[in-house]
Amino acid sequence: TYVVIENCIACKYTDCVEVCPVDCFYEGENMLVIHPDECIDCGVCEPECPADAIRPDTEPDMEKWVEFNRKYSEQW
Ligand code: SF4
Repeated sequence: TYVVIENCIACKYTDCVEVCPVDCFYEGENMLVIHPDECIDCGVCEPECPADAIRPDTEPDMEKWVEFNRKYSEQW
């Protein structure tokens, strides 16, 4: 899965939401999040993010961000 990290805070762009083929972006408290079970790992959102806030969970120390993205995508 891909996840959104703190660089997204206060970012006003939603280019990522528009390109996602499965609509798995959700609104967190002050940033967007990706539902980790709905993301199909296509990667098209990553280069669209002007804040470099979308990362694959294969990067180091991403577990807490996967849980964060899950928590805020399931609260609505
Ligand atoms: Fe959506 Fe693909 Fe980005 Fe996952 S990697 S959030 S499916 S655009």
